[in-house]
Amino acid sequence: MRPKLIAGNWKMNKLVSDALPWAEELTGELGTPRTGIELLLCVPATHLHPLRQELQDSGVRLGAQDLSSHDEGAYTGEISGAMLRDAGADFVLVGHSERRRYHGEDDALLNAKLRAAQRSWLTPILCIGEDEEERDAGRANAVVLAQLEGALDGLEINSARELVIAYEPVWSIGTGRTATPADAQNMCSVIRAWLDDRFPEVGNRLRILYGGSMNPMNAAELLAQPDIDGGLIGGASLDVTDLLAIYGAVQ
Ligand code: PEP
Repeated sequence: MRPKLIAGNWKMNKLVSDALPWAEELTGELGTPRTGIELLLCVPATHLHPLRQELQDSGVRLGAQDLSSHDEGAYTGEISGAMLRDAGADFVLVGHSERRRYHGEDDALLNAKLRAAQRSWLTPILCIGEDEEERDAGRANAVVLAQLEGALDGLEINSARELVIAYEPVWSIGTGRTATPADAQNMCSVIRAWLDDRFPEVGNRLRILYGGSMNPMNAAELLAQPDIDGGLIGGASLDVTDLLAIYGAVQ
């Protein structure tokens, strides 16, 4: 009912000159895309246009890693949703923990960015997750639900294409420490219940991804959980073999 989504997050890695042969290798090894699973690469904005050309007809989707909350105007250095869409993006990450941490992005700004994504017909992937101290204090659920409340405040969601959630415990991102499948499923079911309640028409069709040190060894068990609809993958998405192994781990 919910198509799976395997999404790579390249962060600030690779030059276009590395990315193009990488994409050629990917499409060569991918073969015919499987039905019911989307493969997405969230790449630096400078890479969208050349990769769009390279990945034409491959079925691989492209996403950006951030967008401006504004549509156009005097915002030096910013990139609008329409520009990202024009360059080849269908998706955009919003509120990745690295943006919350290094760029001070708060709920109000993320809410504005989600609205900007909607105006540009981009599917936002809203990233949420507790840090280690919050988990140890038994506050993980409360923190994650507060992040959902804050970022989605007043937003209308009318179709499954309008929002994806990525649950990424901050302590597991880039650390090699993955949440157990049971803990990840538990949190994703809490998120699912909140989405069902908040968006009764569409909540159970919205996809929830798990992110945090997912790799070819741990992917199958995480992706088999009933409320985990895919993965957001950082480090392992830089390698064609690892990314395709994770894609292949989807049942
Ligand atoms: C991420 O960047 O969203 C992420 C999950 O990174 P990693 O897979 O490297 O932990």
